[in-house]
Amino acid sequence: MGHEWNHPVSGKSFVNAVHVRAGCLYSKVRASRGRTADGAVAAGLQCEVCPVHRETLAHVIQQCPGSALARNERHNAVAKLLVQKLIASGYTVEAEPAIKTDHGVRRPDVVAYKPGKRGYRRRDDRRGSTGRALGRS
Ligand SMILES: [Zn+2]
Repeated sequence: MGHEWNHPVSGKSFVNAVHVRAGCLYSKVRASRGRTADGAVAAGLQCEVCPVHRETLAHVIQQCPGSALARNERHNAVAKLLVQKLIASGYTVEAEPAIKTDHGVRRPDVVAYKPGKRGYRRRDDRRGSTGRALGRS
């Protein structure tokens, strides 16, 4: 696949890694490929946690409540690592601050800034002297 592997891995791990990379991990829908000639196959392809959905890789990874805990733990681990690295790089970091906007309260995962440096600007700051929003033409 054009990738170089820096670490030797077992055959099983290699195969699993290729499946992840190629997006072809096992799911009921994927396993049914080639057997969808008639309408009768839809039965049995439902997710075991939420039967109203078909068990596709996208559903299992992104939506299914059965994988929500692992998904959230992964998200939190990445956010924690990001915060650590930002702080180590001299940023002041706010985790999940509540920001009131015209469209309701938004809660980004991380806001990082260096005191005294201009970077992110609020929407109001982007308006020109005429009050017209800049950035779109
Ligand atoms: Zn599900």
